[in-house]
Amino acid sequence: MKMNSFFNYLETLHRDYADVADGAVASYIPELLKADPAWLGIAVVTVDGHVYQVGDSQQEFTIQSISKIITYGMALEDNGTEDVLKKVDVEPSGEAFNSISLEPGTGRPRNPMINAGAIATVSLLAEATPAARLKRMLDVYKRYLGHEVAIDDSVYQSEKETGHRNRAIGYMLRNYEIIEKETDEVLDLYFKQCSILVNCRDLALIGATLANNGVNPITGVRALKGQFVPHVLGVMGSCGMYDYSGAWIYNVGMPAKSGVGGGVVAVLPGQLGIAVFSPRLDDRGNSFRGVEICKRISKDFGLHLFYSSQTTISTVLHSRYDTSTVRSKRNRNQEQTRLLSELGKQVKVFKLAGDLMFTGFRKTVWNF
Ligand code: GLU
Repeated sequence: MKMNSFFNYLETLHRDYADVADGAVASYIPELLKADPAWLGIAVVTVDGHVYQVGDSQQEFTIQSISKIITYGMALEDNGTEDVLKKVDVEPSGEAFNSISLEPGTGRPRNPMINAGAIATVSLLAEATPAARLKRMLDVYKRYLGHEVAIDDSVYQSEKETGHRNRAIGYMLRNYEIIEKETDEVLDLYFKQCSILVNCRDLALIGATLANNGVNPITGVRALKGQFVPHVLGVMGSCGMYDYSGAWIYNVGMPAKSGVGGGVVAVLPGQLGIAVFSPRLDDRGNSFRGVEICKRISKDFGLHLFYSSQTTISTVLHSRYDTSTVRSKRNRNQEQTRLLSELGKQVKVFKLAGDLMFTGFRKTVWNF
């Protein structure tokens, strides 16, 4: 791979895919058809706050299903994992995003990344009124993005007018008492969250915030409590790419989420967020070029989560001793000297350099 900088790399990548015209812009929400099929933006944000962006990375579009990860994090914060799991499971459904896919008997949606699970998740937000729930949601977006967000009113109206299937799902969930709030209010907030406007840079920043344990790497503001980040990334890893999730984690190897607006965000924990915006979708509802470009970046930089380039940890430990044999030059009285000779063996000193991973810890501290 020839490149002078990562920015050049992204420019080349953009050029390579600029003319790829596979897929089609979503039409089932009529307003989405207004997108220019040629739009292509790519952005990468690192956990130390560097932003790289090319192409139509400033073009706004509706977040659609990617909003599901933000709301899921909020529901976890409000209720804890156990109570959320009682309402929404975390098993991949292997079915399309708008599948009804409820657990027989309980009516529990399979996971929070399909519409049924996402609508149930919206109902778990703790605030008492719809207005308060919306306000909190917009505030959480501000934490992830570092700026205010707006709702695209025409997309919201368009989805509200045509979202009969989601309405059916909502009422089914109400029937099973998975939703315990006013169903229309829950659906309304779901339609609104799908219509939040973002650009490609914003999406990459959401990814980088999740990669950075829930803290926005540019503003330093916490968007999601660290303890819930692995759960959000977990469902993204197993269910984030609709019925392509298995092949995605196999090929790209990063938790990710796509939306029918054409956005895709992928997260490499501890390192970066990647986003692609390209509105032409494949048969499964994922951005065609979004998938291809993420595959390329993952391959070019060896970003697959299950690829481990570091095989050795032995160099982490530089020396190990106890204070009965090695002492500081400090003058000590007789009693202290006696105590140190007697008990110094129990005081172990480890001189380490580098990251102490599980194996390093086992070798150094547990010594086997
Ligand atoms: N608002 C869309 C719907 O509910 C979101 C779907 C998506 O992005 O997958 O149909």
